[in-house]
Amino acid sequence: EATAAPLLETRSLTKEFRGFRAVSEVSLRVAEGTIHALVGPNGAGKTTLFNLLTGFLAPSSGQILFGGDDITGKQPEQIAHLGIARSFQITSLFDQMSLVDHLELALASPTGMGYRFWRSNAQLRRFRDRAMELLDEVGLGDRAGQAAGSLAYGQKRALELALALALDPRLLLLDEPTAGMGLEDVDRTIALVKKVAAGRTVVFVDHNMHVVGSLADTVTVLQSGQVLAEGTYEQVRNDERVITAYLGQ
Ligand code: ADP
Repeated sequence: EATAAPLLETRSLTKEFRGFRAVSEVSLRVAEGTIHALVGPNGAGKTTLFNLLTGFLAPSSGQILFGGDDITGKQPEQIAHLGIARSFQITSLFDQMSLVDHLELALASPTGMGYRFWRSNAQLRRFRDRAMELLDEVGLGDRAGQAAGSLAYGQKRALELALALALDPRLLLLDEPTAGMGLEDVDRTIALVKKVAAGRTVVFVDHNMHVVGSLADTVTVLQSGQVLAEGTYEQVRNDERVITAYLGQ
């Protein structure tokens, strides 16, 4: 429904670095329950836009609305608490720590479910049960007790995804979910993102057009900080301006 209020909306969002516009007047609408891809040549402003959405950068001008509320200028922790979680491209895993302990730590964090200084055994059991559910969801349930350092690259990326899901986000931001992966892991990741996207809203950045075409309901193409084109994958890939932007890279 084009008339439904979007879950995420940006209005003329702009970020300048010393007068240079990395993101320029970007107005996005992401409908609840959809998968939305951000693509564009290097330097297009995708990372900067993600950093604005998560509060890691403050916009120079413009607005960000989430669930109809203005979240412009809020801090990263506040935004995470409101339900926007980001899965990072750069890993922040502890090699010696088990998978289930990673998940329990994320669940017990201030932005995770039910932060309490004092925890009853029942609460600890809930963390453990939820941790196991999340590991099962990303296909790592049978490795719960293993150290994160023992995982293959694709499995580490799946663990990072589970950690983002631990925040029970309404909106999941995925930063190049298939970066550095071989064909097999790419296809596994496509299936995994489809699965975790059920009942959630996802915005992702990826350079792999097979991934974009397989996952995205809507694609926004950025170039030089601006929206160059928007539509379905079929629409944007046949757009002359998009073809020119990529050929000119
Ligand atoms: P993408 O993720 O699409 O490759 P980025 O958002 O990383 O693009 O960068 C967009 C533009 O903004 C680039 O020209 C980049 O050099 C510039 N940029 C990004 N971050 C900064 C910063 N902290 N200071 C100055 N320029 C920046």
